[in-house]
Amino acid sequence: MPFYLSPKVFSNQAKVLVKHWPFKPIKISAARNLLSQLYGYKNDHHYRKVLMTAHATSLAPCSEEIVQSHYREWIQRFAKLGAMNEIQARQLMHMLWPAYLNPNYSLTTKMYHALFRFNGHCTDFLNDEIKNVEIKYDFDDTPAIGDAIQAMGIPHTEVGLIRVNDKNVDLNFRLNDGDKVSVYSSSAEYTNSNMPWKPNGELTFLLDVHLGGLARYLRMAGFNCLFENHDHGDSVLAEVASVGEYILLTRDKGLLKHSKVKYGRWVRAVKPIEQFREIVKHYHLADHFNPLSRCIKCNGTITTVKKEEIKTKVPKKVYVNNITFSQCAKCEQVYWQGGHFGKIQKILTDVKNRGL
Ligand SMILES: [Zn+2]
Repeated sequence: MPFYLSPKVFSNQAKVLVKHWPFKPIKISAARNLLSQLYGYKNDHHYRKVLMTAHATSLAPCSEEIVQSHYREWIQRFAKLGAMNEIQARQLMHMLWPAYLNPNYSLTTKMYHALFRFNGHCTDFLNDEIKNVEIKYDFDDTPAIGDAIQAMGIPHTEVGLIRVNDKNVDLNFRLNDGDKVSVYSSSAEYTNSNMPWKPNGELTFLLDVHLGGLARYLRMAGFNCLFENHDHGDSVLAEVASVGEYILLTRDKGLLKHSKVKYGRWVRAVKPIEQFREIVKHYHLADHFNPLSRCIKCNGTITTVKKEEIKTKVPKKVYVNNITFSQCAKCEQVYWQGGHFGKIQKILTDVKNRGL
């Protein structure tokens, strides 16, 4: 040890630890052992033994300068020794050395920082002035990088690739001081995406209560699309999305940050037809249109029915003028070529041609 820690200071600090220990109560002997190891001794016995040597008293007492120069090192070591996080260790450190730390070291000032750069559509979530610059992110302890990204405003569902110091990492990577981070958006165009941003196989969608117009368009095109005209709340939507592997579509960025939501997109457009165009483009849906296979009203499947079966369910003129009729298996809504089909085909052809 390059400095001398007096028995009085040591003993007072052990009492502070016993009083403020954040877990199950500890004895004074355990507190003394912890402090000994924090300051570089093997244990309390070793500390006392060193104290008795002439060498100890010839050293300078532990000064403000020494405490401040060991600030980070001691907090990191203390966290490991006490099996606590660095935020807890830091609070205790300020209790051990109030006179030396409290004036200059605010507990609210973060200890570490990393530099983030967001790319592609991730920047849709950033204010203009920080869109194309490195953003300094201050933090304590070792947060998961996914939490840091979400704290900066980008839902994890929008992230396709994260690189830290030129290596690929996932959302659970623990951030370290000085890390340089590049975040890329999830999209079919960005072929290097290494995070699952859509399920394999057939895509199914879950829409929040504000996207009724988009739900109608997706159903017109034949996509399985859960939507109810009733607000079930964020946690129910997140749960349903996670259990059924649905892609959650919403205009609520906060909903996508829910940990249970695996796949989702913040719908940028405001008008339903523009939203439909956006989703078709983003998920490459144009080649999978299957019009009049799903009920626009209830998402049930539609099948062709014998004309006689729906005689009482459509206007007489419609019945006479049409040959082929389809019906929803769930709500019994009847569809026919002349009415709905023509309009739907026109909309879908237009989106196919203009959207891609
Ligand atoms: Zn129906």
